[in-house]
Amino acid sequence: MVYRHEIPKRVRVLILGGGIHGVGLLHDLASRGLKDIFLLEKDSLAQGTSSRSTKLIHGGLRYLKRVSDFSLVSESLRERKLLLDLVPDLVHPLELIFPILNRGGESSLMVKLGLSLYDRLAGKEKVNTHTTVQEAEVLKKTPILNPSEFKKFYSFWDAQTDDLALVMRAANSAVALGGQISEHCKAVSISLSKDGFDVEVQEDGGAVKKISALYVVNCLGPWANDFLESNSIKPAFDGIKNKGIHLLLPDKGLKAGLFLQSPEDRRIFFLLPWLDHTLLGTTEKVFDGSPDAVYADDEDIDYLLERCNRYLREPFKKSEIISSFAGLRWLAMEKSKSISSTSREFSLGEQTSGRGLLITLYGGKLTSYRSLAEKIGDRISSHFGEFRPSQTHKPESWIKAGEHTPPQLLERFAPI
Ligand SMILES: Cc1cc2nc3c(=O)[nH]c(=O)nc-3n(C[C@H](O)[C@H](O)[C@H](O)COP(=O)(O)OP(=O)(O)OC[C@H]3O[C@@H](n4cnc5c(N)ncnc54)[C@H](O)[C@@H]3O)c2cc1C
Repeated sequence: MVYRHEIPKRVRVLILGGGIHGVGLLHDLASRGLKDIFLLEKDSLAQGTSSRSTKLIHGGLRYLKRVSDFSLVSESLRERKLLLDLVPDLVHPLELIFPILNRGGESSLMVKLGLSLYDRLAGKEKVNTHTTVQEAEVLKKTPILNPSEFKKFYSFWDAQTDDLALVMRAANSAVALGGQISEHCKAVSISLSKDGFDVEVQEDGGAVKKISALYVVNCLGPWANDFLESNSIKPAFDGIKNKGIHLLLPDKGLKAGLFLQSPEDRRIFFLLPWLDHTLLGTTEKVFDGSPDAVYADDEDIDYLLERCNRYLREPFKKSEIISSFAGLRWLAMEKSKSISSTSREFSLGEQTSGRGLLITLYGGKLTSYRSLAEKIGDRISSHFGEFRPSQTHKPESWIKAGEHTPPQLLERFAPI
């Protein structure tokens, strides 16, 4: 199904970008009872970063390296529990095995401390307490692993989703509550008007139309600053585009995911069961090009296979790869920080025009999208002077499972 609501002349809130944050905000505002709210997506919903993630609904164990990110981890753990309850058919618990390397990598003590803190931050919202696991048990759950490379194994729990299906569920729920969407409709320009902003849009490359809006929320992810700059608006923050790739492989019999490390460059990567397949992925490489031209190149694929194959009984062959995909994390730049230590916390840039407000989102995570949308919704609702609370934490603001079926897995990916 393609959303094609008629382009309005004027709306109260115009959302640019149909990834998880744009759609989550539409759902949030619709749940507050707002009616004149509209979302534009230049492609199909979730075709940017939001269908190219690692699909984890998690606190983010590795973010515990920064004390300043503890609050982000805590909030993500609360959202993990909420999503497990609200959309149990799309978000389910997943056990992860963290093997401790014989040489290099994180020490057993550091991992134990990190997992204890992770459990403590989750409190009563945790999925399961972490434990150590014996090799025989690990091999039952991850039969492809070569245990001789490791001296100890920890087990901990997070959750996993189908990111595309989650975006579609939130979008359908927003529309059921009165939100409107136009896919294949690109925002081509934005200018300040007497009372807010004028945005020119183009459907399927056809005639340009104008939408006036009191509030515009730029949820364009890695496209956000290019859009502002091409309209002579100075972004509030410099952004970093951080490339991550994934490889889709045939099912390798995983009953749990693996949290693996590359000790030389301190990168981590995941090997996960996902929709009856195996998903291998990593992140952390700066990307300077256009977000429209991001893909997993041979160098990325060879790197990932080489790092992963060190730990497997039988190496993956390149010919086994069914498909690959790449996405860009969009983060506000923190001066003098490396990419892996740049916070996943969000930042909002704001620009006023008369009574109007243009908000640009930097950062965020799939896991915490709902609470971030609620914060932006609160900002808009209180700025307008008629505060109404969000309802997306309540099951009644969601459509039921089965009222929409996302595309089959292999319809989504081009074969490699
Ligand atoms: C490799 C990788 C792995 C990740 N793994 C996880 C994970 O496991 N768990 C987790 O919680 N988070 C994860 N994340 C983070 C998460 O995926 C992102 O934070 C989230 O998807 C960003 O969503 P968004 O809506 O901000 O941006 P996007 O999904 O990129 O949406 C922006 C949208 O804007 C559209 N657009 C662009 N220009 C225009 C225009 N001119 N007009 C109209 N529309 C336009 C694009 O087509 C796109 O759909 C991962 C990120 C990456 C890159």
